[in-house]
Amino acid sequence: MPEFCDVAVPVPLDMAFTYRIPENASPVIGGRVLVPFRQHRMTGIVVEAHDRKPSVAAKNIISVVDTTPVLDDQLLRLGRWIADYYLAPIGEVLRTMLPLSAEFKHSIGYRIAEGGQMALHLAGMSGSSARSQRTPEEQAVEFRVLDYLSGSDGGLVRVERLRAATRASRRLLDGMVRKKWISREDVSAPQDAARTVKIAVLNSAEGKLNENQQKIVEMLAAAGGRLPADTVQSLNVPRTTLGTLVRRGLVQMAEEPADFTVSRSKPRTSPLKFQFNDAQTSALARLREAVAARKFSGMLLHGVTGSGKTAVYLAGMRSVLEAGRSAILLVPEIGLTPAVAADLHQIFGDEVAILHSALSDRERAEQWHRIKRGEARMVVGTRSAVFAPVADLALIIVDEEHDSSYKQEETPRYHARDVAVMRAKMANAVVILGSATPSLESYFNAKKNKYALIELPDRVEKRPLPNVEIVDMRVEFQETGREQVISRKLAGEIKDRLDRKEQVMVLLNRRGYSPVVLCRTCGKKLECANCAIALTHHKREHKMVCHYCGYIAPVPKVCVHCGSEYVYFLGTGSEKLEELLHGMFPQARIARLDRDTVRGHEDFERTLNALNEGELDIVVGTQMIAKGHDIHGVTLVGVVGADVALGLPDFRAAERTFQLLTQVAGRAGRGQSPGKVILQTYFQDHYAVQYAAQHDFVGFYEKELRFRSWMHYPPYSALANVLVRSDKLDDVLRWSGMLGNWFESTRHDGVRVLGPASAPIMRLKRDYRYHFVLKSPSREKLNTTLRAMLAYAAQQKIPRTQVIVDVDAVWLM
Ligand SMILES: [Zn+2]
Ligand SMILES: [Zn+2]
Repeated sequence: MPEFCDVAVPVPLDMAFTYRIPENASPVIGGRVLVPFRQHRMTGIVVEAHDRKPSVAAKNIISVVDTTPVLDDQLLRLGRWIADYYLAPIGEVLRTMLPLSAEFKHSIGYRIAEGGQMALHLAGMSGSSARSQRTPEEQAVEFRVLDYLSGSDGGLVRVERLRAATRASRRLLDGMVRKKWISREDVSAPQDAARTVKIAVLNSAEGKLNENQQKIVEMLAAAGGRLPADTVQSLNVPRTTLGTLVRRGLVQMAEEPADFTVSRSKPRTSPLKFQFNDAQTSALARLREAVAARKFSGMLLHGVTGSGKTAVYLAGMRSVLEAGRSAILLVPEIGLTPAVAADLHQIFGDEVAILHSALSDRERAEQWHRIKRGEARMVVGTRSAVFAPVADLALIIVDEEHDSSYKQEETPRYHARDVAVMRAKMANAVVILGSATPSLESYFNAKKNKYALIELPDRVEKRPLPNVEIVDMRVEFQETGREQVISRKLAGEIKDRLDRKEQVMVLLNRRGYSPVVLCRTCGKKLECANCAIALTHHKREHKMVCHYCGYIAPVPKVCVHCGSEYVYFLGTGSEKLEELLHGMFPQARIARLDRDTVRGHEDFERTLNALNEGELDIVVGTQMIAKGHDIHGVTLVGVVGADVALGLPDFRAAERTFQLLTQVAGRAGRGQSPGKVILQTYFQDHYAVQYAAQHDFVGFYEKELRFRSWMHYPPYSALANVLVRSDKLDDVLRWSGMLGNWFESTRHDGVRVLGPASAPIMRLKRDYRYHFVLKSPSREKLNTTLRAMLAYAAQQKIPRTQVIVDVDAVWLM
């Protein structure tokens, strides 16, 4: 065994740390070890074992957690690639890849020190010390703490137990540590991974039973003699009754591994019709051929909305399963509804693991172990499922590959689509990126033959695409003399559909009631206390909310700046739109889908089901209504404020608008009737609006690429956003000034540096924010410059957590 090993610890530092391997310990590369780090204990991943003596004394590993690797060679390589490409600390990258935090329990313990023994002794003799500045109550608690700790034979007592026994506050314990009366230790330790449930087993029903005992025995007998203890105790009997039965030997307690079920909703009938049209058949054939070749290949599956991409994915995955290999399907955050999970269970049975955002840490860890053991070879999940520890990976599919939820907006700031491509390369597997509105980057790569381009140009069953009509809201304003939310045209079309008992969707991509509260006297807006963002009025909940940090304020009656009564609530959000529609169509049954009405996937699905069952006439919502599956009855889609995003200072604004409009327009149409889309806009000439109206992806793509090329934006340049943040404005100005000077005084051939400038959102979650945007046609040069900048920042003692490097940033706000 080598003498040392390097361990990646989850801290914001771009390095692994060297520890000494104690005798008899045998850590494995890719396995976890428990190590001391500063005042704490942490689990880290062993990335290397060696005999190179470090320049400073190495501490010993505390214990070895895994005897076999939890990250195999391929995933370790992938982790290193992410750390390098995104300039992310390796320990934080590896922690993100392993959803096993539930297996480590953070805990603190205390033990009595010599000074404490002395104090206890003196207190016993004199009652209390006269010079003390503490209240008698505090002294009494201190005495209890010392007494309790000394009564534990001087051993270590966990903080929870100590506080429960003595009612000592953390502050008081801290004070005692400072006086050296007690000492504090980090006793964090790995926990047993497997979760078990207690099962009550009926041994015998003989003997005299009281009424409550009889109830339990009958319930167990009816269930075949075994039930989870929780279920038994949910009976309306005292909790001690079960214990009594156990003592009498009538019932026995056993432990069993917990079953894990993702979805309790019933499977729907025939989720898949594997009756493919020609385009689907040929796409599937190419997929299977590529998988069989056992070497890397990438494909972009560009299929219009409703062209049956999902059926191709699932058929492809099933053939991978039949070949005894593994596949991963990534879906955007809102995509994994209970009904989708039920479909997946029906197709893949127990062989599927579903990783969605509603899982607890523990459930996530259980799924991870199932996959690692090879029990589940089909993995479906959101972003982090790209790290699923499957063996013999044959296929990764990224559904709706343009979706921005694939980008993680915290360290490590990886993009799951790009990681999927890299993982497939390392595994000699096939990666499929699918979308009706591919990202510019992916389509560009396909055009450059980096990926094969597969088109599904038609909707299934030859259903026609909807007709799109643009309503120019400037004209509407001139003709009506009023700022309208719903144009006369849209109102007329909605009435028409309601008369014909057809269904309508209306999109307004902004939640809340009014997005701005303005004072007409002083001209100021009501802003968040933590962010430079206007608070949004939420009428039903009667409060003002910041959509960025969650800050809540009362609804103002007078201006908070000048006291004037002339405060005005301006603009329209989805809540107000719903109210307006209720007013215009009092008979209509209306529901709203946005983050205020949808708390989980179930809410989302319930509303879509109600729509499909014909229980709703109109669904109003944010971009959420553009997502999800299986909507059949909507013949009209109205888009209100289609161009909100076009006004944002972000180079992806046009792309996002085009994608949203195309996706939501895809909701219209029932059977052979094409459906209609009314697109209200103030920018009717904007190419994003025009091309979306014509369903012309290629037209949009070519126009947008010219813009990106002129402006040196992706895909022509690699781009990184460097954000400097602090809750002290002085720090931000000083640090961004230092970095700005450094960029100016050093040469970075082939890298353009813009900034420092205040970020479009100047203050967010209490932090002031300045940023730089770096662009380069050479990713290598960009990476080298960023690395040098981070080294300079470290040398200047700018905290690593306050300089955020976002490679391939999706948002520049
Ligand atoms: Zn005012
Ligand atoms: Zn805020």
